[in-house]
Amino acid sequence: MVRELSHYVGGQHVAGTSGRFSDVFNPCTGEVQARLPLASKAETTAVIDNAAQAQLGWAATNPQRRARILLKFVDLVNENMDELAELLSSEHGKTFPDAKGDIQRGIEVVEFCAAAPHLLKGEFSDSVGAGIDVHSLRQPLGVVAGITPFNFPAMIPLWKAGPALAAGNAFILKPSERDPSVPLRLAELLTEAGLPDGVFNVLNGDKEAVDGLLEDDRVRAIGFVGSTPIAQSIYASAAAHGKRAQCFGGAKNHMVIMPDADLDMVVDALIGSAFGSAGERCMAISVAVPVGQETADALVAKLQERIKELKVGPSMDPASDFGPVVAQSAKDRIEDYIQVGVDEGATLLADGRGWTVDGYPGGFWVGPTLFDNVTTSMRIYREEIFGPVLSVIRAKDYEAALRLPSEHEFGNGVAIFTRDGDAARDFASRVQVGMVGINVPIPVPIAYYTFGGWKASGFGDLNQHGADAFRFYTKTKTVTTRWPSGIRQGSSFIMPEGS
Ligand code: NAD
Repeated sequence: MVRELSHYVGGQHVAGTSGRFSDVFNPCTGEVQARLPLASKAETTAVIDNAAQAQLGWAATNPQRRARILLKFVDLVNENMDELAELLSSEHGKTFPDAKGDIQRGIEVVEFCAAAPHLLKGEFSDSVGAGIDVHSLRQPLGVVAGITPFNFPAMIPLWKAGPALAAGNAFILKPSERDPSVPLRLAELLTEAGLPDGVFNVLNGDKEAVDGLLEDDRVRAIGFVGSTPIAQSIYASAAAHGKRAQCFGGAKNHMVIMPDADLDMVVDALIGSAFGSAGERCMAISVAVPVGQETADALVAKLQERIKELKVGPSMDPASDFGPVVAQSAKDRIEDYIQVGVDEGATLLADGRGWTVDGYPGGFWVGPTLFDNVTTSMRIYREEIFGPVLSVIRAKDYEAALRLPSEHEFGNGVAIFTRDGDAARDFASRVQVGMVGINVPIPVPIAYYTFGGWKASGFGDLNQHGADAFRFYTKTKTVTTRWPSGIRQGSSFIMPEGS
């Protein structure tokens, strides 16, 4: 049965009125399981009206009380973890344990936001001049919006909403059309935790809703995560409309494998980071860079063996290493790229096209794919594939390996595997990429650091979560105060003399 989903506004589900819908699939079966309403401009404006009204009271609530509601929400998410993870898997296709990880990395940021009373403290300088003090305040922006991708339907909305709400803003989430049910469920849990109605709204939609958010003056900040062309255009439009924006885009993450690396450890790390979640992670490793011929030959031989053991299967099957990709269009795109790689002359060692899984004939399956002898001029190297496709590009020495991620258009994440501390230190210092792993394949920073790529992977000057998020979601006011001395002037402290 096809469910009809809704928006979530003012603490309740609200049916769509635009008459436009998009289909939400079960990627394991290929069946449509829900219809999602796509908001019109008028519906978008109504959601902003609601948020603007609610924000005033929320901003006036003291930060510690706001933080308590967020902590209560974390408890509720934990209590409902299994149900949320199953729902997430059913629309995204990632495995159940991986879906739990998606939720977990989201609520870790909300836990960090419990420190809002501390993070929102301003500065104070005593006696900058005679009788003059200066202090600064961090005040909420008002209404802010988050536009998020399909691949982390819990984590990325929470990375944005946690700090925005803790700082006293009302937050409008425009989640991906592909997997909107977890965001809607998180909205219900926020209401249950005591968040006032209208402070967190979910507006479902496509470009029309996003344009409505961008064009309305009351929306003061846009946090976007998704593909680079959209990130770039939303960043430009937000700036043209006088809003602050942080827009994170696509990736092509390299792993450099030095000759002294432990190859078994490397192969484990590569298999998990290239094929986990069917490669649909912005921090997935999609390029392996072995240094030297011997390393490359040994690595490729081991990878070929390990790939044969991988099990692609239904999300809820504990034996599955990874599930289907999110949509038929994603499967088509990835399979097209595999053909492009073949046509460009790369060596196809494992081919994931035409993959089948018993009992699931309609699923969006793509098997693990491995290319060797990839070169920098190939499209499969230059462009983001966003699927379970690993390219091996051989580097003759360390300097050649270092140049690859540094000169690539994208600069999200990168890793080096080595036993040599000197090489690792040099790499971390010189590589032109925002997040670096040393013997760590997917270096997603922990909640109290910040997350953000460089170059075409990120537009804007502040990162997600950590202290940066509180700077992004607040405006600073600086107050200079003088209390003139001599306020007692005119009073006499001397016993008046008699005339
Ligand atoms: P996407 O760009 O298709 O969609 C992202 C969001 O933008 C969705 O909410 C979508 O509805 C909206 N959108 C799409 N087209 C739009 C348009 N023309 N105008 C306005 N809004 C539009 O991305 P996706 O396929 O959902 O996600 C995968 C991409 O996200 C990959 O490129 C991946 O690398 C990237 N990603 C980046 C990060 C990061 O932190 N850098 C994290 C996760 C995912």
